[in-house]
This record gives sequence, structure tokens and C-alpha cells, in this order.
Amino acid sequence: MVRKTTKQRNAELAKDGLQLRHYGLRFRMEPKKLQKEKIHKFAGCARFVFNFYLAEKIEVYKNTGETLHYGEFKKSFNALKDHPLFNWLKEPDKFVNECAMEQVDAAYDRFFKGQSKFPTFKSKHTSNQSFSTKETNGNIQLDIEKQTVQLPKIGKVKVKFSKKHRQTFQKDGFNGKIKSATVKYHSSGQYYVSLKIEEKVPLKEEGDWTSTPEDQIIGVDVGLSHFLIDSNGKKVENPRYLKENLVTLAKLQRKLKHKKIGSANYKKLQRKISKLHLHITNKRKDFLHKESRKLVNENQVIVLEDLHVKGLIKNKKLSRSIADVSWSMFKTFVSYKADWSNKKVILIDRFFASSKQCNGCKEKHILLSLSERVWICPHCGTEHDRDINAARNIKEEGIRMLRSLQIPV
Ligand SMILES: [Zn+2]
Repeated sequence: MVRKTTKQRNAELAKDGLQLRHYGLRFRMEPKKLQKEKIHKFAGCARFVFNFYLAEKIEVYKNTGETLHYGEFKKSFNALKDHPLFNWLKEPDKFVNECAMEQVDAAYDRFFKGQSKFPTFKSKHTSNQSFSTKETNGNIQLDIEKQTVQLPKIGKVKVKFSKKHRQTFQKDGFNGKIKSATVKYHSSGQYYVSLKIEEKVPLKEEGDWTSTPEDQIIGVDVGLSHFLIDSNGKKVENPRYLKENLVTLAKLQRKLKHKKIGSANYKKLQRKISKLHLHITNKRKDFLHKESRKLVNENQVIVLEDLHVKGLIKNKKLSRSIADVSWSMFKTFVSYKADWSNKKVILIDRFFASSKQCNGCKEKHILLSLSERVWICPHCGTEHDRDINAARNIKEEGIRMLRSLQIPV
């Protein structure tokens, strides 16, 4: 059976005025002791399969110059599972192993598209361990009454609903179809499940954005001094707690360098660090959700710079790299929230020189230093705040694209 692509299914659904919507739901889990053991075991299987398939692929290529494909590997892998030494690979449901193989192929794809580095082997010593599985015949279920998620071979696991989850479920219930689940655990002792959901919703008609009034269009720039700066002159600070936590984190990491690797103190400190990491990540996500929601609620069209984040992440400074990761996550949040609320996001070319052009006379100043917060245009004499000037240029570029219909709809 050839599976239809989302595009093909959407084309069919469109006849009935429907379309597919995909989204994720993530819950903190409270597994029982036996369930925890299974989760650890299944994650171990997934890691083993991932590493095994990756190693085979590399080996085959080295020896023959050919790419080992999923189907061939799966055949030999299934034979291996029957060997008494590898019987433990039969413990999780079969999709756990399959998903791990698919992850290798996906990582290869990303590598060949130039989107990421060559895949690396998974280590059991990293703070995050996970496995994924797919839904079949209702084996993954969410019970919103009892607040449980049923997982294949693990059973019903208690999950925690956030306030937002509760509000949504109370209002709309849960109508989605679960497609897959990813279970993660963190070395600090926290367990999560992410469900991929598919729902059929009424077809959204693409509006005509070309004549959107300028006051309903906003340009947004990001910086290190502020989280974001918009073309109306508003600046959103990076949250305070984040700065404080980052300082603590840097201190702990320096301390870790002086401990003996593998010692009790080392492990204790390592746990503390990974817990703080997780805390920062969660807080950061909340913040990004809130800011993206505000932006989408208050504007019709949002213009963002399509920054090439990966190039920036290489920067070793922690604060910098977190800011970059946040930005790309923010972009994603704004995009899907806008999509759901029938608003428009325009991404402008990342090479567009937004900060070096005077928004007044449109002259470019190549010599403008990045450290100058305020500058006076030598051509027309206008005094600019560097960031606000950039946000205004971003907005203007967005308007230009909008008016000339250069955006794909
Ligand atoms: Zn000027």
C-alpha cells in the first residue's frame, strides 16, 4: 500500500471543505516504577538500533560506495532479533525500532540537504534519552478525563495537564487523531511524552494580504541587548531570571571542570547542571509562547528576518547561543500561531541589510559599527536608534514584498 502524502490527502479533503492540521501535545508524565524501567529499556533499544543502523550504513558505504537502505537493513535486523542474544530487542513494540531506523534516514537526508552535520552516534551518557513509536489500532490513547496517556507495552501513564491544556480540553474536548508518540526522560528524573496529532478542520481561505493597511503590519528585529524590537519602537527585554540563571549555570560549569570526572561530586554537580538547563529551557519556552501570542494577536501581518541561525549557534558564548536557539523557536511559534489565527507572516531575506540603511533617506552606511546603539545618518542628519531603525527597515521590506505579491501563498 502506498501511503498518501499530506498534500494529496489535503487535495481530496478540500472537496469537502476540509484540511488537515498537525500539531503536538506535550505532557509531563508520572510513570510508576515498572513503567520507568520499561521506558529506560525501550530508549536503550532505540539507541542501539539507531547506532547499529548508522554504523552499518557507514560501513557499507566505505566498502562498496553504496547506500544501505532501510528495507534491506530491516530484513537482516529482524533476523537478528530472533537470535537469543538479541531477544531483548523484541521487548518494545516494533515501531520503536522502526522509528529509530527512520531517524537515521532522516538525519542522512538533512545532511545531504546541507541542513545539518553528519549524524553522530547516540550516547547513553547524555542527559536526554528518548524513543518514538507510532499509533496503530488505537494503541496510543489520551484520556482527558483520567489524565492518562496509554503507550504500547507500557500501559496507562499518569500525565499532568497544564492550565492551558485543561482550558483547551474543557472547551473543545479532544478530537485529534494521535499519529505518534515520543517519550523522553531527562537525567534530572523528569519524564515527558509528546504526541503528534492530526485533525481535520474547515478549509481556511487564503486572504488577500496585498492591501493590508500599514498600521496593521509590524516589523520585528531581534538582538542581544533586547529580545525583540518592533517597528513601533517597542522593545521587549530578555527576561531577568534568564540572565540570572545563565550566570549561575556558567559558574556551575566552571566548577565542574575542577571536579574529578566520574566522582560522586562530579555526578552530583552534573545533575544539578542538567536540572538548571531544563528549568531554563522550560521558562524560556513559556516566555516565547507569550511573546509570540501577543505579536500575533495585535497585528495582521508580521515581518521577520529569516536569520541563518545555524551559522550563529557555532558562537561559543552560552548567552549568545541560547538567544539564537530562542529566535528560531520564536519564529516557529509566531508562524504556526499566525497560521491558526489567519494572520500572515513574511520572512525577509537574511542578507537584507536592515541595520545599515537609514530608514529616512534610504542611504546605506557600510561603516556603521555594530556597537553603536544610536547613530546620526551622515546623509540626512536623522538620529536613529539602531534597533528600531532596523525593525522599520524590516517592515518596509515586508511591505514591498506584500505589495508586489512576491510572497508565496
Ligand atoms: Zn539618512
